[in-house]
Amino acid sequence: MRLIKLLSLTLLTLIAVLAINTLRLPALPAAPGVAAVLADIDEAAAAERLGAAIRIPTISRATGERSDVAAFAALATLLETQYPNAHRVMTREAIGDGSLLFTWTGKNPAAAPALFLAHMDVVPVEPGTEARWTHPAFGGVVAEGFIWGRGTLDDKLNVMGMLEAAEALAAQGWQPPHTLIFAFGHDEEVGGHGAQAIAATLKQRGIHAAFLLDEGGALTVGLMPGVSRPVATIMAAEKGYASFRLTASAIGGHSSQPPPDTAVTRLARALVRLQDRPLPARLAAPVDVMLERAAPAMGLVHRVAIANRWLFEPLLLKLLADAPASNAMIRTTTAPTMLHAGIKDNVLPAEASAVINFRLLPGDSLASVEAHIRKAIADDGIAITLEGGTGNAATAVSDPDSAAFRHLADTTRAVFPDAVVTTGLMLGATDARHYEGLYDNRYNFMPVILNTEDLQRIHGANERIAVADYAKFIRWYALLLKGLEPATHP
Ligand SMILES: [Zn+2]
Repeated sequence: MRLIKLLSLTLLTLIAVLAINTLRLPALPAAPGVAAVLADIDEAAAAERLGAAIRIPTISRATGERSDVAAFAALATLLETQYPNAHRVMTREAIGDGSLLFTWTGKNPAAAPALFLAHMDVVPVEPGTEARWTHPAFGGVVAEGFIWGRGTLDDKLNVMGMLEAAEALAAQGWQPPHTLIFAFGHDEEVGGHGAQAIAATLKQRGIHAAFLLDEGGALTVGLMPGVSRPVATIMAAEKGYASFRLTASAIGGHSSQPPPDTAVTRLARALVRLQDRPLPARLAAPVDVMLERAAPAMGLVHRVAIANRWLFEPLLLKLLADAPASNAMIRTTTAPTMLHAGIKDNVLPAEASAVINFRLLPGDSLASVEAHIRKAIADDGIAITLEGGTGNAATAVSDPDSAAFRHLADTTRAVFPDAVVTTGLMLGATDARHYEGLYDNRYNFMPVILNTEDLQRIHGANERIAVADYAKFIRWYALLLKGLEPATHP
């Protein structure tokens, strides 16, 4: 009897704690009133200008291959002719093989600048997929309410959209309170040497930005479980990158008299063991905050679980591990990408090797990943080497409560009143990684609503953006720039 009383008391306490925690989740902030910024924007003309940029094939094909200098020069000329006011108020420098650096000196040049990144290069159209495009990839066609072509989402949208906002504000005689820097790389898709050169230039000048904004996050629909509204993920960190090579050695010889074990089977065993032992899952800082901020827009079950992570974290991790995209947010991922062994069908190879690509969660290091591999494969005879001799841990996690973040969030709510604004973790790499040390906080976000179909258009067929969405993009930037003073820059 006493036991039952005790149990029910415990249960009641537990329910009370769960409920209190759930109620304690912050409510979604209300959207601030939309200031009448750029109410008079000429959407059709802006769309045509983006189309013109799409028609210039600034393609990055392969790492190391020289980019088409003439195409990048043509794009630079287009920017100059289309955005005369922006060019009047900003200085423009050509850096590296075709990157551009714009500086708009602020009223207070001593204040920390804001740094906006974008890239002018695009990926090629995969040969054989040309017929899948409704309009030619490099046609820059404006039709059916969309601007079509390679680069409309990744990433000429950002280059042109930022300059549209700057052009409009410059035409109004506006001057930023502090310096704005726009850095447009020319080879983001193949390594970002342009970004490296710009970052080196800024470092040399002693520039330290209050915040950096680059492509990466967006407003997505249908990706966050249990949320039907658009979710704006202003990414606060980027995963790290490292590839390790596992090499098994054996005495080679003729395949007519094989030993019981070979380099190939030994390697295969190690690969299976590694696959069966993923790195541990956990809620790293940006993902933890992401869930907490998205929770108020979710159903009761999700809300209770997220509000009570002390109890339900294992369950949440199990749910997140179910899909590759969410699994990649909760652990350092293991992806075998290359295999090599043998030269002839009747020769036992003396060596078999595999390359495994890891994307590191904040908190993991190259050393901790290597230690994990060693433990997982449990075979001291297999050599583990860092492929290419280099790799990097995740970036530092930027403050999801900084003045800059709040300003990005408020601007997003103003332009997209039904959006749930949260943060997140970048799974892939962007040009921003070359700017480490040049800013207080770094975020990845672009103000465009993307559904799962749109996400496939990036680097795929039928890349496009709605004319109305492009206009919203420009308004977002104009509002963001105009609202920079003074809160975001103490
Ligand atoms: Zn991109």
